[in-house]
Amino acid sequence: MFYLTEQFFSIQGEGKYAGTPSYFLRTGGCNLSCPGFGAAYEVDGEIRYGCDTYFAVDSSFSKTWIKVEDPNVLITELEAEFIKIGYLPDMVITGGEPLMYYSDDIFYAVVSWLVGKGIRITFETNGTIEIDFEAYPAYRDCVFALSLKLANSGEAREKRIKPQALKNIQANTKESFLKFTIDKQLAETTAFEEIEEIRQILPELDVYCMPVGESRDTIWHNDKTVFHFCMQHNFLYSDRLHIRVFDTTQGV
Ligand code: SF4
Repeated sequence: MFYLTEQFFSIQGEGKYAGTPSYFLRTGGCNLSCPGFGAAYEVDGEIRYGCDTYFAVDSSFSKTWIKVEDPNVLITELEAEFIKIGYLPDMVITGGEPLMYYSDDIFYAVVSWLVGKGIRITFETNGTIEIDFEAYPAYRDCVFALSLKLANSGEAREKRIKPQALKNIQANTKESFLKFTIDKQLAETTAFEEIEEIRQILPELDVYCMPVGESRDTIWHNDKTVFHFCMQHNFLYSDRLHIRVFDTTQGV
């Protein structure tokens, strides 16, 4: 059994496949909480801090999540969606942290069905979950967009950087890449050193950097800095198209 918080057809807004029409599944729950990202929200009168997808992270919102208990129900829904769309789009499975469910029978049945259809799946993941690729081989055909968290997430290093989990992904997948969200302050302080440390674990993967921003305004505030940061260090710049186009609207 696993939880979905939303599903929708849109365009991948960031990373290696930015600009690609994609169907999104967003799972509920995360093994980190990233208080350093500072998105404030309220639960029963208490102010909490997390990331901009706090509604898919904090289990206090689980009443609004959909429990998936039968893979065939979701598969039938996806088949109907693909008929409506008119072709088989890319899939993006995001969260929260979707790989928390990687060994769940229901979740794996859905992933295996998608892989069997020849659909490219990108997991948007924090890269902290160690996957058993022998026991769950369908993940070998998936792309892992490794959005590793840096010190500004407010999480302890041992919790957000798991070398063995990362090495497994690098060794078992072909198209995975690293993706970092950076603001002016981080670019001017520890971002490069922190990324270099991670690249020592994952020397083969491309590095994409994109500006912090949950709205057009904050992206405009950070984009030039990240642009220059990428030029300086030979990293790939990724924009955040969905926010440029839709601003703060959710589920697009
Ligand atoms: S790992 Fe990602 S989804 Fe989880 S709390 Fe941090 S930013 Fe949010």
